[in-house]
Amino acid sequence: LAKHSGRNRLCYFTDIMKSARSQRQQLINDLREAPLGKQLRLFYQPIIDLSNGRIVKAEALLRWQHPEQGLKLPDEFLGVAEESGLMSSLEHWVFSEAAAQAVNWSEFMDSSFQVTINSSPLQFTQNIHSKPWEAHLEKFLHSNTSIVIELTENVFLGDSEQLERNFTELRDAGVQLALDDFGTGYSSLAYLKRFDVNYLKIDQSFVRENEPGSSSHAIAETIIMMAHKLGLQVVAEGVETAEQRDWLKAAGCDFAQGFFFSKPVPAAELEPVLRIGYTHH
Ligand code: C2E
Ligand code: MG
Ligand code: MG
Ligand code: MG
Repeated sequence: LAKHSGRNRLCYFTDIMKSARSQRQQLINDLREAPLGKQLRLFYQPIIDLSNGRIVKAEALLRWQHPEQGLKLPDEFLGVAEESGLMSSLEHWVFSEAAAQAVNWSEFMDSSFQVTINSSPLQFTQNIHSKPWEAHLEKFLHSNTSIVIELTENVFLGDSEQLERNFTELRDAGVQLALDDFGTGYSSLAYLKRFDVNYLKIDQSFVRENEPGSSSHAIAETIIMMAHKLGLQVVAEGVETAEQRDWLKAAGCDFAQGFFFSKPVPAAELEPVLRIGYTHH
């Protein structure tokens, strides 16, 4: 009997693995064939200046409107896109879409308003000949459009000469850089000395657990202090409550984003809010 159920169990696991693999393969095919312009969406999450409650930036976040499976979040398809070589076309699409949106908004927003765009560290450090931002740099120089690229610290694990070239090229075009999910990646603080970044984004995990005296609390406050000493500004991610907002403000954090202020929404939903200059109190 034991042997029998053992074999059944083996079949069962194999079936699960097979079906997971075929679902994955299906997803790759779907993504490869997806008309990007029709199925991809950018949602925008406002980033608030904690000193006055005003929206000063918006982060572009990718969604995939799958024809059968509905709206997919990046965690469900970015890994697959990276492994199957589709990331570059996704990032080209993201960049041109977000850049066009930034140009639109720059027509009525203050020149300090910024659209932030996530980029994959791999795309950033490999020597790919067509970079997602390339076609748009000219546009940034000649409009009051202001862009920030968000990268995780893992970008520093890649080819540092390539990285330096990209950073220089982007900075020359007036693009700023932010380190996303700061404090959770594999990198050393020495990189902050070597590479010129503008913002540190405190990872949500340090924001969520905000009991005074907790290690998360201490880490977040230390990041803020360190950043300011280095001349960088700080964005807190994942702010969900008024208490978190108040604590971050008291700790001197510059900017915040999170469900407390707004979820990521389609551009058409954010735009009227930007136009009236809504303030979060
Ligand atoms: P991220 O850049 O750290 O983005 C923040 C994530 O936290 C977003 O998830 C956002 O919806 C979510 N979030 C914002 N506020 C809150 C909150 O108050 N509570 C909670 N629980 N979550 C909050 P999303 O949109 O699912 O994106 C996940 C990750 O996918 C992003 O993390 C980013 O690393 C990546 N990503 C998104 N869009 C792109 C893209 O266009 N290109 C690349 N390369 N990566 C992207
Ligand atoms: Mg981000
Ligand atoms: Mg983040
Ligand atoms: Mg993240």
